[in-house]
Amino acid sequence: MGAVRIGRLLGVELAVHPSWLVIAFLITYSLAVRQFPADFPHWPGGLYWAVAAATSLLFFASVLAHELSHAVVARRFHLRVSSITLFIFGGAANLEEEPKRPRDEALIAAAGPISSLVIGGLLLLADAALGEAGGPLDALLSWLGYINISLGLFNLIPGFPMDGGRLLRALLWKLRRDEYAATRNAATVGRLFGYFLIGLGVFLAFQPGGLFSGIWLALIGWFLSNAAEAAVARMSVERSLRGVKVRDLMDSDPASVGPNETVASLINERMLRGEHQSFLVRHDDGGLAGVVSLSDVRRVPRESWETARVTDIMTRYPDIVTIGPDVEIEGALRLFQEKPVRQLPVVIEGRQIVGTLTRSGILGLIETRIKLGV
Ligand SMILES: [Zn+2]
Repeated sequence: MGAVRIGRLLGVELAVHPSWLVIAFLITYSLAVRQFPADFPHWPGGLYWAVAAATSLLFFASVLAHELSHAVVARRFHLRVSSITLFIFGGAANLEEEPKRPRDEALIAAAGPISSLVIGGLLLLADAALGEAGGPLDALLSWLGYINISLGLFNLIPGFPMDGGRLLRALLWKLRRDEYAATRNAATVGRLFGYFLIGLGVFLAFQPGGLFSGIWLALIGWFLSNAAEAAVARMSVERSLRGVKVRDLMDSDPASVGPNETVASLINERMLRGEHQSFLVRHDDGGLAGVVSLSDVRRVPRESWETARVTDIMTRYPDIVTIGPDVEIEGALRLFQEKPVRQLPVVIEGRQIVGTLTRSGILGLIETRIKLGV
């Protein structure tokens, strides 16, 4: 199940994964049924649920404010933020690219916990100023105040990819000038902390009344250790591709056909004879006219094979995603991630075809380089 878009705020797309509803329900339920009745026994019955629901909604806003702070600072450094997603383990601001300098990384990472701590402090101050102990507003403000402060402090634990881990990475990166080693070290702390949470969770689960929170803690630990491992894996892939350009990996003699060839000849002379299912359509002057693939051919009724021409069924030039030969492979990978294509025609000015780049070609290189330890 994917995250559902709920709108935009400050130019950032906001999305909520359905698993967030689990959190919203758990918070509302535990406040309405346990905590508020225990702390404020004199409230009328319905009030517990109303205040609990409002508190849960404002908790949602608190997490959003935390993530939005990361996003706003990231954009200051001209990094694109594709979206903010809230899910069962909290929130994530999804950056399309990694910060380029340790200082940028540190400021982006610090923005979230700082905003949580400031919001928490302000809420507790407001609570104290109102001085209405025991009322619904007191209950709401003090719970949200403490939870925001906990959110800020928890995120400062120095295990990557938590905010504190990003701060640690930025510091090591600055000291040693090696981003990769810094990421690996900060991720090791993240993984160890994840294991610690799993251990603590299992221990708690066997204590009286601790089953639920124990399982919850262990799940968070498991999520963190996985995320730390994935971050290191992603970085080794990026590193193995550093300096490689589209030109180095493209097939410079791509399978191509002329626009006036008939569909029958495309099928009989090309598709049924070779390994290719997709062809560049090339003008006589070498310019790219379009792309034709098996799926285009399958839409043509058999009786029209002799009369229909490639130019009638191909995807035309302006609708095709192309790439230049001097683009870094990382850029090509991003394109492959964003667009549902398996190959990219490589063109230079005047849409002259110089080759094609395939997804599998990139994956092959990554595999070889990682196996060789390059
Ligand atoms: Zn954060």
